[in-house]
Amino acid sequence: MSQSVLVTGGAGYIGSHACKALARAGYQPVVFDNLSRGHREAVRWGPLIEGDLADRNRLVMALETHQVAAVMHFAAYAYVGESVADPAMYYRNNLAGSLSLLEAVREVGVDKMVFSSSCATYGIPVGSPIRESAPQLPVNPYGETKLAIERALHWFGQAYGLRSVSLRYFNAAGADLEGEIGEFHEPETHLVPLVLQAALKRRPHVDIYGTDYPTADGTAIRDYIHVGDLAEAHLRALEYLCAGRESTALNLGTGRGHSVREVIAVAESVCGRAIPRRETARRAGDPAVLVADPSRAAEQFGWRARNSDLQTIIATAFAWLQRCVKQ
Ligand code: UDP
Repeated sequence: MSQSVLVTGGAGYIGSHACKALARAGYQPVVFDNLSRGHREAVRWGPLIEGDLADRNRLVMALETHQVAAVMHFAAYAYVGESVADPAMYYRNNLAGSLSLLEAVREVGVDKMVFSSSCATYGIPVGSPIRESAPQLPVNPYGETKLAIERALHWFGQAYGLRSVSLRYFNAAGADLEGEIGEFHEPETHLVPLVLQAALKRRPHVDIYGTDYPTADGTAIRDYIHVGDLAEAHLRALEYLCAGRESTALNLGTGRGHSVREVIAVAESVCGRAIPRRETARRAGDPAVLVADPSRAAEQFGWRARNSDLQTIIATAFAWLQRCVKQ
């Protein structure tokens, strides 16, 4: 029988791609999702248990019924701006929800967890590229809750033997290379889908948040990582834990940064049309440059991004969006 992996948030963007990767590698993904932000249609590779992280009994039932060997924990709210406006919601869902999961996992004796952390745990970086040893000083409740969970995982490891890998994502983007799943957020706040929506005239233009950054073209620089590469890294993390290795935390990025203007230029060439844009003020809390040093992931997992060139990211996201428009 294949090993079951509980995937919280498996109906969401990154979680659904991880489920596909798990199934392809011979695991049984069991999705636990309250569908508040995820999509039933994205659950295609195993059962869906509708439930909330706060419902510890339901989590225990899911873990026991499916004889789960490990957990991948994606379920979380993930909008920085929303977290600043409504921190209570983030502390309740992301932090209290994760604590409920950790307690359920402890109760049934599961000892392996892969956790979706974020480069938001670093706050305003002091240098670039960012190494895992850089200070973690988040500047919003989203980053604070992710860091608090990393720390809880550390102490649960010390006290109860739970081993974990915290994966600090940089900018997840793109869609499944085979077009089966992709990004669908409501409301959408991420650059790549917004640029492509403007290309498809589903919005009048894309806003460029800030043209006065200390970068070559004045716009902010991010490290965009293909969602399929992220999914692959989760698989490596699982195999690492299954091999009995120690807890770790890793950056997932490419080590290369791209400006907002570069993203728009590549999207224009992929879509074959001009994309209307409007230059506006900076968005509060956005650092100028966020680029990963991904070398630890290469050393510990042998993982590196394979499909994260901007062309592939944008072409797969565009194909997915066109499919959604047609449906
Ligand atoms: N951005 C932008 N216009 C938008 C959305 C985002 O110029 O409509 C910029 C944003 O300031 C940041 C980059 O694009 O520099 C990536 O933002 P996104 O929201 O996609 O991800 P984040 O870096 O906030 O996780």
